[in-house]
Amino acid sequence: MHEEHIHYSIVVPFYNEQENVLPLYMKISEVMDGIGESFEMIFIDDGSRDRTFRILSEIFENDRRVNVLRLRRNFGQTAALKAGFDFARGEVIISMDGDLQHDPEEIPQFIAKIREGYDIASGWRAHRTDNWLTRQLPSRIANWIMARLSGVDLHDFGTTFKAYRREVIQQVALYGDLHRFIPALASLTGATIAEVPIRNIPRQTGKSNYGLSRTIRVALDLISVKFLLNYLTRPFHFFGKLAFTSLAGGGAIGCFLAYDKFWLRQHIMIEHGPLLLIGILLIVSGIQFMSLGLIGEMLSRTYYESQNKPIYSVREVRSRRDEAVDSTRRDSGPWHS
Ligand code: UDP
Ligand code: MG
Repeated sequence: MHEEHIHYSIVVPFYNEQENVLPLYMKISEVMDGIGESFEMIFIDDGSRDRTFRILSEIFENDRRVNVLRLRRNFGQTAALKAGFDFARGEVIISMDGDLQHDPEEIPQFIAKIREGYDIASGWRAHRTDNWLTRQLPSRIANWIMARLSGVDLHDFGTTFKAYRREVIQQVALYGDLHRFIPALASLTGATIAEVPIRNIPRQTGKSNYGLSRTIRVALDLISVKFLLNYLTRPFHFFGKLAFTSLAGGGAIGCFLAYDKFWLRQHIMIEHGPLLLIGILLIVSGIQFMSLGLIGEMLSRTYYESQNKPIYSVREVRSRRDEAVDSTRRDSGPWHS
């Protein structure tokens, strides 16, 4: 029954990183030993086809702070991270890449930010060294749009080097490739976010799993995240606006044509054929938008109610209600003082 208290969980996903596993593990251990507080490592093998899992197993045999999760196939970085987050026990969870592009030496800076009271500390590659055209430019544009859309004022959404309070990250629903948008999604729950400047180290061995095609996927994700951020609990407000615009346009055209036909006795089919078509199109699509919005409302209800998800997130509770039963639960550990 007794469970030791863990301060930090380091979560690292690996996909075909056989050369990088051991050096990274040694570096993390060294840095974390230096901090001198309890920690665990959670290494996820995301269906690697090289010796990654073998090496991870060997590390596991020799170090009881290490946990290894092996996924059944390659699920992608987001799913691998999520598996690690769900498994993590630490009060603070630190995620980083397994390809040595993130330097464990920088972990203490992340921890310091969380200690200051932030819910998330997010890495920021201030000076980038990777390819300008395929990496830096798309990333700049995406970051700029993302900051505008989400209202979360970060320079760099793209890096996975981050620290989070466990309750914050475990509440974020992650799908698809959405790990890039964790800060934005977490801002939904009111999380506070700080930036930590990090070095941008080029990959030494192995190869990157993403190319330029990632840009399109990120762009699509941007749209869905924007939608989730603003309209998750009220999709009808989104589709409703479209519906009204559409119906108003169609209605106006309809009135104009009716006036032409019944007062001026014109043959509107002949005189205003294209306009008639547009009018009809607008009215029909207006009705479509309306229906989509209502269906969205139903889906949103299902989303929240099927899993009893609250539509809010509580930062802290001050109440004497549960005192007799459970007085030690919330304020164990250094962050709740
Ligand atoms: N990764 C993973 N599953 C995947 C792709 C990547 O677990 O399907 C891991 C990979 O091993 C690395 C991290 O995610 O630890 C970042 O991947 P990568 O270096 O390819 O991305 P980049 O740094 O080029 O953005
Ligand atoms: Mg990398």
